Amino acid sequence: MNRYAKDFPILKQEVNGNPLVYLDSSATSQKPFQVIEAVEQYYKENNSNVHRGVHTLGTRATDGYEGAREKIRRFINAGSVKEIIYTRGTTTALNIVAACYARARLQEGDEILISPSEHHSNLIPWQQAARATGAELKYFTLEPDGTLDLDKAKAMINERTKLVSVAQVSNVLGTIFPVKELAEMVHRYNGVLVVDGAQSVPHMKVDVQELDCDFLAFSGHKMAGPTGIGVLYGKESLLDEMEPFEYGGEMIDTVDLYESTWKELPWKFEGGTPNIAGAVGLGAAIDYLETVGMDEVDAHDRHLAAYALEKMGEVEGVTIYGPSTNRTGLITFNVDGVHPHDVATVLDAEGIAIRAGHHCCQPLMRWLDVSATARASFYLYNDEADIDRLVQGLQKTKEYFGNVLG
Ligand code: PMP
Repeated sequence: MNRYAKDFPILKQEVNGNPLVYLDSSATSQKPFQVIEAVEQYYKENNSNVHRGVHTLGTRATDGYEGAREKIRRFINAGSVKEIIYTRGTTTALNIVAACYARARLQEGDEILISPSEHHSNLIPWQQAARATGAELKYFTLEPDGTLDLDKAKAMINERTKLVSVAQVSNVLGTIFPVKELAEMVHRYNGVLVVDGAQSVPHMKVDVQELDCDFLAFSGHKMAGPTGIGVLYGKESLLDEMEPFEYGGEMIDTVDLYESTWKELPWKFEGGTPNIAGAVGLGAAIDYLETVGMDEVDAHDRHLAAYALEKMGEVEGVTIYGPSTNRTGLITFNVDGVHPHDVATVLDAEGIAIRAGHHCCQPLMRWLDVSATARASFYLYNDEADIDRLVQGLQKTKEYFGNVLG
């Protein structure tokens, strides 16, 4: 166990008679006790609805909720808390942009440009927006190792390109996409860049002003925070012009029988009682990550990816997908002749948790010419010993299936 793992109580257990090795943080990360205690304390001492109560608990709940928003603003270096919208997660954040920005602005002749490696959450909303508006959905061409050639990307961006949306880090390939350069290219034609930060914000310093992206979506549960809370960052000028996503309580200014007006940003996009405990927990997760330091998290995860690439690459019959350098802490792979679900099942018997399936990336699976893959993903609580256990588990998997099949 490394020095961060001790903060994560769930990791101190045995699974199937073996010490747990959790290698599924890209699906959801584990939570340190600091986050668990912040949520517990909120419910034990401060629980109340926000923005309404004149009573003390109402003020405490509002302070916790809005205080966390300021932490998020600082974490991604947004210019104002008006640009930080709480959502249920990345999926909802991307759907808000598709529904309230793309559908309102796009028309026939316009183009939406995304990558074939996108998660379904950053693909289907654009399919639907294209269908509703008559805009055309187009795809970048990826290089054989899953990277993006910037010259080829540039050739696809023109005055028809109204919106480009890409994941900063692919949840399957581990590829880091050049979003800063894409922002420059798309802005030349007055289009917008949407960044799916689900796999980048938890693992590296993301500065929205430096990247100059127009929207950024991410999820609390992948960055040591609770489930059910996420963020949509949007440039204030764009959010200001967008219609609300949901209508109801909390997001209104005045309501008349036939007409209503909306609160100012960010509350215009936060209809209904929000996930207050989730926001407080996300704030605590950011405190935790900032104490470690995002540069340290980034270096740690990249180091583990490089170590895993080397060690897993030495196991005969293991195919690894994605680029060989400049990738973050996840390795997607297959073992010759063994279905990835079987790989995951054998590893689970060893106490090792990995993910198997299409990872919500069916078009990418087709591009890779596989039906499914296995994926091991790392976070700050993992260390080289965890990867050594994974490699031993893969050897066992091969032996087991070699005996059964052989
Ligand atoms: N995009 C990417 C790249 C992801 O990895 C995920 C989660 N697997 C999502 C979007 C969706 O995130 P959520 O389920 O938290 O909304």
